[in-house]
Amino acid sequence: MSTVKTWVTGFPRIGEQRELKKTLESYWRGEADRDALYACADMLKKRHWEYQKAAGIDAVSVNDFSFYDQTLDMIEMLGLTPDRFKDIEDDLDRYFAMARGDKTHTAMEMTKWFNTNYHYIVPELRAGMTWRINIEKIADEYKAAKALGVSPKINLIGPFTFLANAKRSDQPDAEDALALFDEILPAYEALLGEIAKLDDHVTVQMEEPVFVTDKVAKITLLIKQAYTRLALAAKNVDLYVVTYFDHAVESVGQLVQTPIKGIGLDFVYGEKNMEVLELIGDSDKTLVAGVIDGRNIWVSDLEAKKNLLDQIADRVATNRIIVGTSCSLLHVPYTLRYEEKMDASLKSWLAYAVEKLDELSLLATLFFDGAASLQSEAAMRYAQNREANATRRSSEQIHDKAVAERMAGIDALKKQREPFAERIKVQHERFGYPELCTTTIGSFPQTPEVRAARRDFKNGAITEEAYIEKMKGFIKECVAFQEEIDLEVLVHGEFERNDMVEYFGEQLKGVGFSQNGWVQSYGSRCVKPPIIYGDVSRPEPMTVFWSTFAQSLTDRPMKGMLTGPVTILNWSFVRDDQPRSETCYQIALAIRDEVDDLQKAGIKMIQVDEAAFKEGYPLRKVNRPAYEKFALESFWITTNVAETDTQIHTHMCYSDFNDIIDTIEAMDADVISIETARSGNILLKVFERHGYKKEVGPGVYDIHSPRVPSVEEIEKQIRSLLEVLPARQLWINPDCGLKTRRWEEVKPSLKNMVEATKKVRQSL
Ligand code: GLN
Ligand code: ZN
Repeated sequence: MSTVKTWVTGFPRIGEQRELKKTLESYWRGEADRDALYACADMLKKRHWEYQKAAGIDAVSVNDFSFYDQTLDMIEMLGLTPDRFKDIEDDLDRYFAMARGDKTHTAMEMTKWFNTNYHYIVPELRAGMTWRINIEKIADEYKAAKALGVSPKINLIGPFTFLANAKRSDQPDAEDALALFDEILPAYEALLGEIAKLDDHVTVQMEEPVFVTDKVAKITLLIKQAYTRLALAAKNVDLYVVTYFDHAVESVGQLVQTPIKGIGLDFVYGEKNMEVLELIGDSDKTLVAGVIDGRNIWVSDLEAKKNLLDQIADRVATNRIIVGTSCSLLHVPYTLRYEEKMDASLKSWLAYAVEKLDELSLLATLFFDGAASLQSEAAMRYAQNREANATRRSSEQIHDKAVAERMAGIDALKKQREPFAERIKVQHERFGYPELCTTTIGSFPQTPEVRAARRDFKNGAITEEAYIEKMKGFIKECVAFQEEIDLEVLVHGEFERNDMVEYFGEQLKGVGFSQNGWVQSYGSRCVKPPIIYGDVSRPEPMTVFWSTFAQSLTDRPMKGMLTGPVTILNWSFVRDDQPRSETCYQIALAIRDEVDDLQKAGIKMIQVDEAAFKEGYPLRKVNRPAYEKFALESFWITTNVAETDTQIHTHMCYSDFNDIIDTIEAMDADVISIETARSGNILLKVFERHGYKKEVGPGVYDIHSPRVPSVEEIEKQIRSLLEVLPARQLWINPDCGLKTRRWEEVKPSLKNMVEATKKVRQSL
């Protein structure tokens, strides 16, 4: 590559109108054929390269496209297919079977990519594995990109990250596969050897986000050796080791001692990276300075970014700096072009992937050549950029005086309620519920009729009255069913909600929505996160109408159902002009108002779901206390408005609380329901060890499977829970909401659950 000044870590691939999603799904349904699938892929790759070319980006990725996931692609390129899929001869069939399973094969495991909402396929490796290099995909893409006239770099997931994210099929207890380091390295050497044949000179981006996690301590001393070998594996390959999502300071000291060409660091989420610039400055390495935010959607403050680059240039020679994105743009939506309905001011404050490309090239010109060098069109864009940032600083749409006034008194609200022992006594007196009290997590099946009603109302096809009547009908049926099977604490069913965050976001001031802001979550699945752009407040009650209607149908307690502030924060694009903690407190105040309105309306059991509490944990341990502090305080602000006899529940969608049990206890919810059904009682034991005193609903069956659990099975599960915690502390419930299930499954399952509970109670 000739002088490279701009670098994009990676580009999204699902298609700006989700073309890949649609084609994949129709291929899986057997409607589209292979040619259609490949044609779609070719069209998208080409389009994405064209965008980058048009913006004048120098280093454009190949191999960032994938039919499902780039870790899965790496598995295939290295020939590390688990044995259990080797009977499938056809490459594409095998690929999708690994990703999604088929009639005779269970899919490989999938899990979150670091602290993002993107999910990758977990490699299954074993000692003595055999590998076989296949670079066909890379070669095809490389040639196609060159034919378009861009200078490609090849994206690979680095060996450390690959192993750290893998599991051992021969040692199920191993935390990762890093011990297989000696075995994987030759495979990567061979891979680079093949890649070297593609051109006279090839640039490779090795992505090593594991270097920004605390796991780096385990491998620091291997980094020098590994990257020395890899850099020497092929003379004509320039290696850039790129990190993202946090700081990578430990690895930099090692990497500068190897013959690699460059190091990529994140200067948006890894401030501490500033501390290792001298090491790079004193070496011969090029720095890919990740300054354009690849995780968020706000327009860059280009003036501030230029200042940041100037600071970097105090320590690293300008001709060894490349201006880059903080990470792959995979984590942001494509383009603002289709946002036709969005408020014009909000839109002017946003930049999606395509807009970020322009920011990147403009910033590079500013940095390398100075503002005076900007040509008329670029000068205009720079003026627009400054204008957008200025209005963002002062707009009343963002800065709400009433919220600011309330926030001034926020510290007084950062506290727990009265002691649990006092509360729970009063609550038992009030509700009189039995030991092993039965309930559900909130949602009931979202049937086609339920969805149609919501859709029709949204499109104006039915009136509000008609909509309300339909919803009331669903609630009535749902409440009647729960009474019929004799559940003790009821819910209304959440039929009015499309999504647990979007539903609240739509009713909160300061939160906006995009039309086309899709981001890939896994495979063909995309999410459209809310956009928290301004001070958050709640103009009106959001759930009181539905909850009180549901309560009016029954004498049994009706649980109010809210989404917690931390979950709303973690599943949204969050404004970057104030600390996340401030935004979280504001959301907490809004949900607090809802808790208060519910209890005033007679809803005295209120569940505040924190499904995403754990996934917001920072990658680095040093940053955890700060997160835990504001997350806890936000939960308290939300719930300490509850009167002594109002019972606060919370629900979390995972089960491994081993490292955060203190925080869970400190949240101070009267009842917590969690997802331990799939792991028996093992993961519940931490509650026992910890001496946890509050009430717990561990989940007695797995709702993720369509299978109906038998009475005996649930009974056995309850008894195993009783080995760990006493009956007075246990609640009986499914392990998550039922919205993805069908009534045919839900009805018998819940019936069996209640019956099993009664049997166990009798024997107590
Ligand atoms: N109350 C929500 C439901 O039942 C909780 C969903 C979740 O935990 N993700 O759907
Ligand atoms: Zn859940």
